[in-house]
Amino acid sequence: MKVLKFGGTSVGTVESLANVKAIVEGIDEPVIVVVSALGGLTDKLIATANMAAAADDTYKEEYERIVTRHNDIISGVVPQHLQGEVHTIVDPLLKELGDVYLGISLLQDLSPRTLDRVVSFGERLSSVIISRMIEGAIHFNSPDFIYTDSRHGRHVLDDEESLPRIKEVFTSTTFTRAIVPGFIARDRKGRFTNLGRGGSDYTAAILAAALDAHTLEIWTDVDGFMTADPRILPDAHVIDRLSFVEAMELCNFGAKVIYPPTIYPVFHKGIPIYIKNTFRPWVPGTCISDAEGNRQHRHMSGVTSLKDIHVVTVSAVKGTELAAHRGRMVNLLSRNGVTIYNLVNDSAINSFRFAVRGADVDRALDTLNNEYAPELQTGEISGIEVSDSLTMIAIVGDNLQQSAEEMWRRVNAMLADNAIVPHALSEGSSATTLSFVVEKAQEHQALRLLHDMYLKF
Ligand code: ASP
Ligand code: MG
Repeated sequence: MKVLKFGGTSVGTVESLANVKAIVEGIDEPVIVVVSALGGLTDKLIATANMAAAADDTYKEEYERIVTRHNDIISGVVPQHLQGEVHTIVDPLLKELGDVYLGISLLQDLSPRTLDRVVSFGERLSSVIISRMIEGAIHFNSPDFIYTDSRHGRHVLDDEESLPRIKEVFTSTTFTRAIVPGFIARDRKGRFTNLGRGGSDYTAAILAAALDAHTLEIWTDVDGFMTADPRILPDAHVIDRLSFVEAMELCNFGAKVIYPPTIYPVFHKGIPIYIKNTFRPWVPGTCISDAEGNRQHRHMSGVTSLKDIHVVTVSAVKGTELAAHRGRMVNLLSRNGVTIYNLVNDSAINSFRFAVRGADVDRALDTLNNEYAPELQTGEISGIEVSDSLTMIAIVGDNLQQSAEEMWRRVNAMLADNAIVPHALSEGSSATTLSFVVEKAQEHQALRLLHDMYLKF
């Protein structure tokens, strides 16, 4: 059995859905097909909810467009004799969405919980339509078996609740083609939740791991992971093979091919992931696997960048043992859901620096300022400062481990030759990544230099 996931653009139009149908119906073994909402619909659902909450009555027109778009897709892809049946499910869902919008506009209030309900409609609608488009398909309702918990205001997978249910649901029903809405879930109170934006990939990975699929295929609108962002570097090319850690690092450092949590469950089980293009299904794509035959001999697999990074500098007066504070701060921040990148020491001036994403910067500073109020008061910690928005550049490659020193020397020399001053430079936590932070304006130049180096090295 294998699990396929089709993203928003793959299920966005009548034409792209024809490709999805051909791909799925061409497989002659049991498949689970996880689908996103129609392309762009989740953004549209959110924007329309915000309009309704702001008492902007044009939300009604937007809502009508959502209705029309679904109706057009139904008449374009569902066989005539099944259209009536699809409407008996889709029409009440669309009506319910209209009622939710009306409620939001009357109350002029949009709580996170209501927004979770609003975005759930995207995958609920698309999955029903697709299940009637593909021959012999059965619809499965993911909120019946994907449960979430809440942590730091975010939904996280509740595996204790989910895993037994997934096994139960998929072993008690025989299927050859199962259609499953991605992204959506519920909490233990029965309310709609989700796995975060882009979370359909994660739904697919959770199912593949729980059911021991032999393969996970992520069908998208690009040919695979690229050696760099092709919009910045036109000579970037597809990476045919990656290890799990390389793929994880590329995602963590800005590659937008898959939702980062996706890799973890399948990595654990050694299930390979294939990235495939729905619009060019003949292209081999990227294979992510740790199997012997998938090993690369290159030093670098790809370069990426992550925007809106802030460097936090913590300084102490001479004589303060910084190492203990450093450990405590790292723990404190990670317990508060802040991801830390590039922790580096500057022992000469008794300080250390680390990078955080823009979305985490306020939380990081609040946490540190609260927890370290006494030390800041006595002056033991002399300052916690934060930089403007910067960009992080990363080079990823398993083989960097063997040539780390050489790479460091080369990268440092190259940056110096080009008057690029890194704000923080460090090896990543996995030793698969070397990353540094530069001014926003130097992003493209740094990527270009590294990518050229990669091609030669
Ligand atoms: N529809 C959701 C989103 O746009 C989930 C997904 O497509 O993966 O974020
Ligand atoms: Mg996606």
